[in-house]
Amino acid sequence: LEKRLFRLNQVVDRVVLLSKHKMQLQQIDLVLDLQEDLPEIEGDPGQIQQCLINLIFNAMEAMPDGGRLTIRTAHDETRGEVRLEVEDTGVGIPQEMMSQIFEPFFSTKSQDKGVGLGLSVVYGIVKEHRGTIYVKSRVGEGARFIVRFPCRQESR
Ligand code: ADP
Ligand code: MG
Repeated sequence: LEKRLFRLNQVVDRVVLLSKHKMQLQQIDLVLDLQEDLPEIEGDPGQIQQCLINLIFNAMEAMPDGGRLTIRTAHDETRGEVRLEVEDTGVGIPQEMMSQIFEPFFSTKSQDKGVGLGLSVVYGIVKEHRGTIYVKSRVGEGARFIVRFPCRQESR
């Protein structure tokens, strides 16, 4: 595991470049709401990139007929955290499923689409970075994954 200080927005930019074309093909409108001058976070940018890719792919799979994908970053100064959100306007997640989705091999998709590892990988990486993750969702309206990472507090 690489460990260095890096900028979350740079990871977002890279993942957006990688997935932009796929989004266009699937008629997904991308909304980027990135706070500038975020404090750096410490860890492995490659792993955080993997997290974001997994969340974005799930969001896209939840919107087979298109929709809106919002990626948000923000600095929560009071908590000393940097927040990353991935929100979609897809099928949503039933309440009773919420406790299972982060478990390995839990999937509601056909075998060729998913084996249920994406979110368990995300969970593991977030934990390794001393972060937290949770999800808000309403069936038929969409889902929002909220990831928080501790960051250096800048003294101003
Ligand atoms: P997989 O994508 O292979 O099924 P994941 O671990 O990535 O496995 O996700 C587990 C399950 O969580 C999915 O099968 C799906 O039911 C649910 N899920 C994850 N992300 C979303 C989302 N953005 N919208 C709706 N359901 C989701
Ligand atoms: Mg997945």
